[in-house]
Amino acid sequence: MKTTLCSFCLKSGILCQKCLAKLKSGETSELDLKIARFLLSLEEKYPSLQNIYFYKAVEVDNTLAVIVGHGDVPRLLGYGGKIIKALGGETGRSVRVLEYGVDDRKFLEDLFAPLTIMTINTIWLPDGTTETRVILRKRRGSLPPFDVKALKEIARKVRNMVLRVEFAD
Ligand SMILES: [Zn+2]
Repeated sequence: MKTTLCSFCLKSGILCQKCLAKLKSGETSELDLKIARFLLSLEEKYPSLQNIYFYKAVEVDNTLAVIVGHGDVPRLLGYGGKIIKALGGETGRSVRVLEYGVDDRKFLEDLFAPLTIMTINTIWLPDGTTETRVILRKRRGSLPPFDVKALKEIARKVRNMVLRVEFAD
């Protein structure tokens, strides 16, 4: 796995000056460090993790979003979901995998998977700010398979995007 931190530091758990500086400046968080170390420890069991670029992790309530490089989402979701299960077991969180640097639509598709997005549009508010309205397809009476409130907060943290989420069937 590749990250902004040295793999030596991740493996040993003792950070060099450069990695410490990243932690101090907030470029990297304690959570990033914890998740990166855990994923690294799984590399031997799941070799495709070696090719993944890990950007960062964001946690809201019981949901953990892991942001990885271009094309890395399927690598992390592979092995029949075993990596995600292990990560969920380790952290006690429900895990979402998101791709770094994608457009809004792709970001929202990954965020709300496995539900299908019917519509995305921008709402202009009187104060000049915008909200992104997302309409998801969901069977009537069924519960969404994720915590909508947490995902909205993750979108705000990761993309600075204010979401209004609606459901239709
Ligand atoms: Zn280092």
